[in-house]
Amino acid sequence: MRRHSWVGLLCLPLAACGRAADIVIRGGMVWTGLSSGAAQPGAVAIAAGKILAVGDSAAIARYLGSHTQVIRADGGLVIPGLADGHTHFIGGGFQLASVDLRNAATPQEFVRRLREYARTLKPGEWITGGDWDHTLWPGQPLPRHEWIDSVTPSNPVFVSRLDGHEALANAAAMKAAGITKDTPTPAGGEILRDPKSGEPIGIFKDQALDLIGRAEPDPSPEQRDSALARALAHAASLGVTATAHMAASWADLATYRRLEKAGRLTLRVALYLPLEEWRAVADTIRRTGAGDAWVRIGGLKGFADGSAGSRTAAFFEPYADSTGYAGLLQHPPQDLATWIGNADSAGLQVAVHAIGDRANALILSIYDSVTKAHGPRDRRFRVEHAQHLRPQEIPVFGVLGVIPSMQPYHAIDDGRWVEKRIGPVRIRTTYAFRTLLDTGAKLAFGSDWTIAPLDPIAGVYAAVRVGARAEGHRGRGAARLYRGECLCDLRRQDAGRARSRLRRGRGGDRPQSVHDAAGVDQHGPSGGHDRGWESGVRKALARVLEARLL
Ligand SMILES: [Zn+2]
Repeated sequence: MRRHSWVGLLCLPLAACGRAADIVIRGGMVWTGLSSGAAQPGAVAIAAGKILAVGDSAAIARYLGSHTQVIRADGGLVIPGLADGHTHFIGGGFQLASVDLRNAATPQEFVRRLREYARTLKPGEWITGGDWDHTLWPGQPLPRHEWIDSVTPSNPVFVSRLDGHEALANAAAMKAAGITKDTPTPAGGEILRDPKSGEPIGIFKDQALDLIGRAEPDPSPEQRDSALARALAHAASLGVTATAHMAASWADLATYRRLEKAGRLTLRVALYLPLEEWRAVADTIRRTGAGDAWVRIGGLKGFADGSAGSRTAAFFEPYADSTGYAGLLQHPPQDLATWIGNADSAGLQVAVHAIGDRANALILSIYDSVTKAHGPRDRRFRVEHAQHLRPQEIPVFGVLGVIPSMQPYHAIDDGRWVEKRIGPVRIRTTYAFRTLLDTGAKLAFGSDWTIAPLDPIAGVYAAVRVGARAEGHRGRGAARLYRGECLCDLRRQDAGRARSRLRRGRGGDRPQSVHDAAGVDQHGPSGGHDRGWESGVRKALARVLEARLL
C-alpha cells in the first residue's frame, strides 16, 4: 500500500500522468515564483493551456510526444507570467495609437509632435491621450491652448498630463464643450484661468476634466476592440499575463468579453468599476455573476485625491513650493465613507486612490470604521498608490490588513521632482515599500500604465534601486527590495493579495497555466548584476513569446 500512496503523491500535482505535452520548455533555469528559492536547471511541460509538470529534464522527458513542440531556453531563465496590479489597460491601447508626448522635453517639441500627429487625422477627429510631462521643460510652464491652436485648427485636442489628473484642451475642444470665461469651477476640480482676462488657459484638473471629456465622442466598439488588441500585444511582449484594470467602465468590461468570446484574449483581467456605482455593480454580480477565470469584476475603484504632479494630492501641510495650498479631495469625506460602507455591505472589494498623506489617512480611517462596524471578513481593502504617508499611518496598513497597491516606477518619474514639492521631511516616508513590508503590510505592485510604462522589469528596477533612495534611507538600503520579492509580488497579486482571483487552482508557488510561463534570461532573480539581468529578461521574453506561448 505504501508504494501506491507514493505513486499517488507523485501524480497528484500532475493534471494527467503520462499524457503528452503540447509544449515542453527545456534547457534553461526554472524559477517557479518562490522568493526564497533560486532558479534550478529544469524543464516545464504544458498541455491544453495548463502546466503539467516542472522538473528536471529526465522527469519531463516522459511528457514528450510526437506532437510536442519543444522550446529551447538556451540556458536562460523561465519565469512565471507577471501580473500587473494596477493598469488602465484599454486606455493604454488607445495611447499606443495616439500622439506620444511623454518624453517631449521642450514646449517646442510638444507642439511639433501635436502638429505632426494632427496632419494624419481627418478634420473633426479628436486628439486625446498624449501623456505630456511639463516637469521636463525648462522653467516647467504648464502648456496653454494658444501654443497649439494654430497647429490643430480643425481637430479638438484634449491631451493629458501623464498622471491623468490634468489635461490641456485647445480652443476647438473648449468650443465643442461650451466652455467660456463664465463656466464655474466644479467641486473637486480646477480650471486654470488667465489672471488678467479670466479666460480659461486650457488646463483642466481632476473633477473639471469631465467638462471637456463629456464632449469627446465615444469610441465605437470596433475602436475599443482594436485598442484592447494593441494593449494585449504590448503586454504579451513584456510577459504581462494578468492585470487589475482600475477605474474601468462598463464599456471596458464589454470589450474584454467580446475579445474573450472571439478567443483573442491573451491576458486575464479583473476590472474595478467606479465606486459611486456600487449598487449597479452589486446588482450585476447578483444577476450574472462576477465573471470567469479570464474576465471578472474584481471590485470598485474610487478616488480620494489627485496627484502630486498636478498639485492636487491632498496633504495635511501645504506644498513646499506653493504657499498655503495643500491639494484637494475629489469628494467630500462623508460621500466616500457612505460609498465604501455600502460597497462593503454588498460584499464588494474596494480600492481607493490616495496619494497625499491626508488622503491616505482619511481612507485608512474610513476602512477602519467600516471594518469595526461590519465585523471581520476577508475584505482586502486596497489603497491605490499609498505614495506619501505620515510615519504614523505606515503600520496601520499591516494592522488593518489594508493592501498598499503601489507603482514603483513612480519613484523614477515623480521621484525626480517630488522632494521639491513636498520638502525634506515628507520625502522620508514616500514610497515606503520596505517599511510597509516590515510592518506587516502585504504589497501589491503594478505599473499604472499608461501613466507609467507597462514594463514590469522597469518597475522592479525602480523598487530595487530607486526605492532605496526615495524612502530617505539614502545609501543604507533599508528601503531596498530584492528582485525575488518584487517578482513574487507581481506574480502573486492576481491570485491572492489584490484578490482578483484570476488564477485558479492551488496557487502560490508554481505556475498554473501556459499563460503563466513567460520569460527566459541569463541570470536568476538572485544572481547576476542588474543590467545583464534586465536586458536578459527582456530578450528572453521576446524569444519565448515569439515561440507563441501566448
Ligand atoms: Zn491609476
